[in-house]
Amino acid sequence: MTDDHLSPQEIIQELSAIYGTFKQEPRYNALDELIFTVLTQHTSDLNAEKAFDRLRQTIPTWEEVMVTDQQTIAAAIYHGGMSNQKSKRIKDILADILQRHGKLEIEFLREYSIEEARTWLMDLPGVGPKTAAVVMAFALGMPAFPVDTHIHRVSKRLGLIEEKTTADAAHPILESKVAPDLRFQLHMQLITHGRQICKARRPLCADCPLSSRCPSSTV
Ligand code: SF4
Repeated sequence: MTDDHLSPQEIIQELSAIYGTFKQEPRYNALDELIFTVLTQHTSDLNAEKAFDRLRQTIPTWEEVMVTDQQTIAAAIYHGGMSNQKSKRIKDILADILQRHGKLEIEFLREYSIEEARTWLMDLPGVGPKTAAVVMAFALGMPAFPVDTHIHRVSKRLGLIEEKTTADAAHPILESKVAPDLRFQLHMQLITHGRQICKARRPLCADCPLSSRCPSSTV
């Protein structure tokens, strides 16, 4: 064990040897990604995907979703959990986008700087730093660094952030420490590491390629 913390580049190098390299390719358009991210809150990606697919099948356009009653939306997204809160949040977000932008799409954010896009997204109802960063990184190809529960935990264990730093507060700290061209790769490597080896309850330090320089290693 040592206090010689690994750099983002070194972490990527070690972890990509076991997880491979991830490509930054859009999975949805930006508005779809935003609504999908709302559905991922407090549930698994798998349940969120089921909820998202069902919503699109039941009510195919965001214009229709916006004028559909909340109960019908809640029934469509039932698989994602917290369907009453999420259906209201989705309607509120769509109404706000329409009011501010005049149409239900947010691809125009590509023309914005990362800080302008983040501010615009975080002005939407209930959108925090993580949701904004997910939309920017996964749909808009911007060098944002979303901090989910896995990344928050692994970053603390590796000494990239302090123990008391909240996940919301970790966004600007990690973005300032990680070069823009490394952010997406580090995000994907750390989230995969958190799911597979650096698990919440019992991290598998004996199997971890970072253990010799991790300040939290148990081996
Ligand atoms: S050594 Fe253990 S605590 Fe440190 S990153 Fe690896 S699994 Fe996590």
